[in-house]
Amino acid sequence: MIASKSCDSSPPSEDTATLAELLSKEAEGVHKGSQPLISLKKEILKTICKTNNFKSSTELPLTMIKTYLFDLDDTLIDTSIYARLYPKIISLIERKKTLKGAELDMKAISFGLKKNKFGRWDTGDLCGGLGLLEEYYAELETAIEIESVLHDTVEGIFAKLKKKGMKIGIVSNSMQRTIQAYLTKYKLAKYVDFIFSSEDAGCRKDNDLYWKKLIEKQQLKPQECLMVGDDELEDVQIPAKFGFKTFLIQKPVDLEKVI
Ligand SMILES: [Mg+2]
Repeated sequence: MIASKSCDSSPPSEDTATLAELLSKEAEGVHKGSQPLISLKKEILKTICKTNNFKSSTELPLTMIKTYLFDLDDTLIDTSIYARLYPKIISLIERKKTLKGAELDMKAISFGLKKNKFGRWDTGDLCGGLGLLEEYYAELETAIEIESVLHDTVEGIFAKLKKKGMKIGIVSNSMQRTIQAYLTKYKLAKYVDFIFSSEDAGCRKDNDLYWKKLIEKQQLKPQECLMVGDDELEDVQIPAKFGFKTFLIQKPVDLEKVI
């Protein structure tokens, strides 16, 4: 990796001249016989770094990225599956625990849960708190088997990243078992180097502690990682504080822009 310190030394005019010279040599093929092209490209990259005066690791260009971190919900998969499952889980809770309406809301709040942007509780967390995880997974894993929720571009992107020698991690608020269920269904486990869930962190991605534990457990250098997700706070603002490069997905097709 090129240290960001090396970007702050030479005056811009010299750097610009060197860059122009290097690009011109590459165009003429001057270096092709005497020096491997890859080495020339590294020199060009260093010069670009100097010319643009990158001051911090979070501003390093994407060519420095070695690990791609993907959010799961609404980044890799369509979470409308949870909307369809919601009434079933709510009725399961009512049947097993005689909880519904305001009483159920109070219980969820007592577990420290918050409704999501669609006005729904996280049914996994809710069932976990109520001791209904097996019943929850019986419903969810059946739904995952039946429904098709993976965004079309995911497998191709994962395959390309692995071909380039990149590491891939799934960084999610979901539980390990949920993430594994999707990776198994869509045969994606072979591309994924690690999974980091809310259970690994003991909290969700909106908490700084999540990112501190992720860095520690996976021995990550944040400046070499690109976090890709759909949530501006959890996938962009908070990880950026720790030096991660970030990419916000606004629609599934945006995923293709990471490669
Ligand atoms: Mg998401």
